[in-house]
Amino acid sequence: MQSDVFSTCSEPISRLVEVMSKLPGVSDLPHGCELLNHPLYNKGTAFTEKEREAFGLVGLLPERVETIEEQAVRAESQLREKRSDLGRYVGLNAIFNQNETLFFHLLMSDPARYMPLVYTPTVGEACQNFGHILRRPEGLYLGINRKGRIKEILSNWPVKDIRFIVVTDGERILGLGDQGAGGMGIPIGKLNLYTACAGVPPQLTLPITLDVGTNNQGLLHDPQYIGLKQARVSGDAYFEFVDEFVWAVQEVFPGCCIQFEDFANTHAVPLLAKYREQVCCYNDDIQGTAAVALAGLFGCLRITGGKLSEQKFLFAGAGSAGTGIADLISQAIVAHEGLPLEEARKRCWLFDVNGLITADRDDIADFQKPFAHAHAPKASFAEAVHALQPTGIIGVSTVPKLFNEEVIRAMAQYNERPIIFPYSNPTSHSECTAEEAYTWTEGRAVFASGSPFAPVSLDGKVFVPGQGNNVYIFPAMGLAIYATQAKRVPDELFIRCAEAVAEQVTQADLDTGLIYPPMKNIFTSSVKAATKVAELIFEKGLAQVERPDDLDAFIQDKLFRPEYPSWDV
Ligand code: NAD
Repeated sequence: MQSDVFSTCSEPISRLVEVMSKLPGVSDLPHGCELLNHPLYNKGTAFTEKEREAFGLVGLLPERVETIEEQAVRAESQLREKRSDLGRYVGLNAIFNQNETLFFHLLMSDPARYMPLVYTPTVGEACQNFGHILRRPEGLYLGINRKGRIKEILSNWPVKDIRFIVVTDGERILGLGDQGAGGMGIPIGKLNLYTACAGVPPQLTLPITLDVGTNNQGLLHDPQYIGLKQARVSGDAYFEFVDEFVWAVQEVFPGCCIQFEDFANTHAVPLLAKYREQVCCYNDDIQGTAAVALAGLFGCLRITGGKLSEQKFLFAGAGSAGTGIADLISQAIVAHEGLPLEEARKRCWLFDVNGLITADRDDIADFQKPFAHAHAPKASFAEAVHALQPTGIIGVSTVPKLFNEEVIRAMAQYNERPIIFPYSNPTSHSECTAEEAYTWTEGRAVFASGSPFAPVSLDGKVFVPGQGNNVYIFPAMGLAIYATQAKRVPDELFIRCAEAVAEQVTQADLDTGLIYPPMKNIFTSSVKAATKVAELIFEKGLAQVERPDDLDAFIQDKLFRPEYPSWDV
């Protein structure tokens, strides 16, 4: 007989059991087609002969019993056959919906290869076409028309032990703007990476989209758009809705961390400011981006020498990413070098759509003011570079080619090893390419970008561009927070994570210009970084579990591994 857990869970969505932290016993498992349709426990052709007999699967599967490795070879060749990366994204999604273990086995076997398919850059295209490629809805959609009922709707989710939510309102998806409910591709993809890159158990995670409408006219006129066909709600009504969501999560999923993702900066910044001291939450666009940039800068300093406080950074873009990075750099200078915060902030300058942000500009937001220093106005980015002579430029503007030849040559003129970080995503929005940065600086640039670039050959030397991908940070943070059940996520944890990532870059990596650990080592690197972050969580008294004697073993024990369960049948 099946347990109540399964009898109430016949919906064709993944993660369908109430208690997910332990393997259900034989008597708890569904039988026959229901088991084959259960993505968490389905093994497909890998069910053993005994399991096939016990679970009523004989005849429902072809005779040959396969290993997960054999299944992976087939899946890989099917994915190769697809004509586009979007096709591969859809194909991978289908595997996820049939067999989560196989999906994560594929991803974890070669994260560097699969990451661009399940996340950037392909996920951007997926979000733009979400209504068209949708097969089986995943995660939770909370429409603003359901205001007042959020607790009830969260309770509709069949799993009660949720530890990690990634939530978006779809307003600023990557560099692609408002994608409305199609933004759901981001929480889904991001949570896949929490698992693939750091072993956060997928069954404890939940992707959520707050559907508050969209101002994207293309979507509003698209008959296949899946969200509310209305203009975005803003102002008090918006903030009240998010507030209801945040507090409903505390009640329905106590101990759950909320990761805000791809909100417009006008919402992202106040939401983080409001909730960071009250609940366990963080914003990856602000804090994760900041930490990965900081990790890159720690890596740069190992090449260029000098201290962080001796640098001057000019940011192209003064939104959530830019101000978040500037803020964490300032905090790291305070923490490591003991400068007063005011002084530390003077190392960071912002440049936005209206030019250099200076103290006398009257069109800037509160969160930009700490970096608005006294200076004459500068309308073009190149002019600002000449005037300030920064040691590093960081692009978070979403404007392709903003780091043009004049800008990059100026950086090379003022610096022996100019730091050039075009961080805007996707690739088409990058402020410059790796080739441009290396060519126009005669190979002297210390380079990292938001989207991946292939190695560049110049004058017989091969340069390996680092990707300042938040994936070095957020999965590690997620693992540490989940393992320790952290109460809050202060910025010090991000500084610690950045240090831990930078420490793992070898001299051989630095010699090729690589300032992040190679992507192929992402799992090991994330687990090591998570262990360092967990250490600080315990030190600061933020953990809600007892500190174990052996922290490494404790973290290892928490990891999800993409292996099939076997039942004693
Ligand atoms: P945002 O919309 O909050 O900010 C964009 C900023 O760019 C604004 O300050 C705007 O004024 C400025 N801008 C627009 N046009 C400009 C121009 N012509 N010249 C100078 N500035 C201009 O966006 P955000 O969240 O800060 O993200 C910005 C970019 O950073 C996105 O492309 C995003 O994908 C990328 N990003 C990358 C990473 C990463 O790779 N690790 C992480 C987060 C964000």
